[in-house]
Amino acid sequence: LSAPTPVKAATATHCPYCALQCGMSVAVDETVTITPRKDVPANAGGLCQKGWTAGELLTSGDRLTTPLLYGEPVGWDEALDFVAARIRAVQEEHGPNGVAVFGGGGLTNEKAYQLGKFARMVLRTSQIDYNGRFCMSSAAAAANRAFGMDRGLPFPITDLGGADAVLIAGGNVAETMPPFVRHLTAMRDRGGRLVVIDPRVTATARQADLHLQPAPGTDLALALGLLHIVITEGHVDEDYVAGRTSGFDGVRTSAAAWWPERVERITGVPVARMRLAAEILADAGRAVILTGRGAEQHAKGTDTVSAFINLALALGLPGREGSGYGCITGQGNGQGGREHGQKADQLPGYRRIDDPAARAHVAAVWGIAPEDLPGPGRSAYELLDALGTAAGPRALLLFGSNPVISAPRAGHVTERLRSLDLLVVSDLVMSETAALADVVLPTTQWAEESGTMTNLEGRVLLRHQAAAPPPGVRSDLEILRGLAVRLRGAEGFPADPREVFDELRRASAGGIADYAGITYERIAAGTGVFWPCPAEDHPGTPRPFLDRFATPDGRARFVPVEHRPPEEDIDRDYPLYLTTGRVLAHYQSGAQTRRIAALNAVASEVFVEIHPDLAERLEVAPGDLLRVVGRRGAAEGVARVTPAVRPDTVFMPFHWAGANLLTNPALDPVSRMPEFKVCAVKLERVG
Ligand code: SF4
Repeated sequence: LSAPTPVKAATATHCPYCALQCGMSVAVDETVTITPRKDVPANAGGLCQKGWTAGELLTSGDRLTTPLLYGEPVGWDEALDFVAARIRAVQEEHGPNGVAVFGGGGLTNEKAYQLGKFARMVLRTSQIDYNGRFCMSSAAAAANRAFGMDRGLPFPITDLGGADAVLIAGGNVAETMPPFVRHLTAMRDRGGRLVVIDPRVTATARQADLHLQPAPGTDLALALGLLHIVITEGHVDEDYVAGRTSGFDGVRTSAAAWWPERVERITGVPVARMRLAAEILADAGRAVILTGRGAEQHAKGTDTVSAFINLALALGLPGREGSGYGCITGQGNGQGGREHGQKADQLPGYRRIDDPAARAHVAAVWGIAPEDLPGPGRSAYELLDALGTAAGPRALLLFGSNPVISAPRAGHVTERLRSLDLLVVSDLVMSETAALADVVLPTTQWAEESGTMTNLEGRVLLRHQAAAPPPGVRSDLEILRGLAVRLRGAEGFPADPREVFDELRRASAGGIADYAGITYERIAAGTGVFWPCPAEDHPGTPRPFLDRFATPDGRARFVPVEHRPPEEDIDRDYPLYLTTGRVLAHYQSGAQTRRIAALNAVASEVFVEIHPDLAERLEVAPGDLLRVVGRRGAAEGVARVTPAVRPDTVFMPFHWAGANLLTNPALDPVSRMPEFKVCAVKLERVG
């Protein structure tokens, strides 16, 4: 492709990738020039290498520019007529739930909203969920049950710079979102201390004042041990607990059983280091506890996050300016993507789909009867697992996701996708999932369209269009409109993002994630608007818990939780833990970043990190090709021998086909999060 057509010289917008949503200016002429913006607090003039090189996405030779029907280029009318006819045929035979929709946490708020409306109003299916279920769901579930509201960071990110201590459990921001580190550096420059909990010595752990390195799957025990120390050493903020919380007695009782020596035996973390971590948090005037996917992506992920929230509440942190608990959202619109209705159990405004008042409100905005709204559907893995089965959907429309790479037990998920009567994928490149599709619809991306994103702070941002899309490409909103008209002659599916956002504002009004007062103009005039924002003269809410929590009685709720072992523990046959994660150069399934030369130059292959002791025992040298074998599959990677992993653990990145062939789809009973972060494997040398 030649350089895209310029819209204007330099456009203020945001990065296509992660939830930090770094501000950048994009200038398009013969080439694409990206400049970091200093006015956006999240990155304040910084970008990581993914952001700096994002312009290559606009000129990628891999770009899809025409619809494909069974691999053959066709016109848009032919493609959409075909999809509509097949949907009709499948639904006539199998009913409305014969067709499913799968969305993504990178879609704009407008797309996420329209996808949920399309599924429920046009397809009348309950079968919709999205890949954010694999990302944020455990933290979201735990925050909802503790605070009555799930907003990733319920405070501006700049609060971190003013803290005296930050504890990060299972987050590697130095690789996943490097400009985040400047806020931690600001804290440490003032004398604050950073504590990191991670089974690996990550780039973030290397910067920590204290690193606790538990066995994979034992973060919950570690959090209980820290709470035990806080209680027995007299560090509980009793006034705060009495005045702002409920349920502490039950948690105090259950924590009594988690004495540090017992926790050391489970986690491998020395008692002295646990005590030091508890002291750092207790001594800090302002402290923040953060969780990331390492703590959350477990079949007990919700309880693990609850254990860290209990710790934060005992110390009196949430709802105090400069302190708190937050989760480090991962995907670009991981926050907004879980607020506006593409989740199986949710309607716009972060409303529950089984709440009669919520159903009545949203149905009125959509001009339908509440009883015409389907109920809750299957969660992401359960939906993928059911595809093509007698009781499951026979057709799937997929937007902004690549489950062949990113789903747990990915080999099985690929089989289920292959078994469908109809698979339609909207994407900008031929992802591994698009390659399986009957119909591929080429869609606009990032800088070629406008739309809002809600970053990890709950700050609603506006991505401005900076370049015209290539001829032949349509936006997801245009695709949904085209299908809605064909299927139901439906009105109310505008393709203009601003029109969709104005409807989203009405649909979210009065909900938890209330966007009613947020307009494109307000966002563009400043550095975004924090939800909830119920009216145009409302300033937005940077710190929603200062006066009360969003629970009926205004108090935060302690939730008693107990540690339990991983769903699949190591044994004689599979004696090693596998844990997975990201590398600096790549984002999620890699569908975008693996196509960027500069990123591939620094990270082009699957690797397996193993400890030197294990390498010696297995006679593995750096660079050897290894096969990692588990109960659900096997994957190969090049050996990297490093003391950064524990001797009982191997690590693989998940940006390529491989790691998720092995991961365990056992689900958290509350969030339905799969157990991505720990399973049992053995190693074999190839050749
Ligand atoms: Fe910023 Fe994340 Fe983009 Fe990197 S990938 S530039 S951290 S938004």
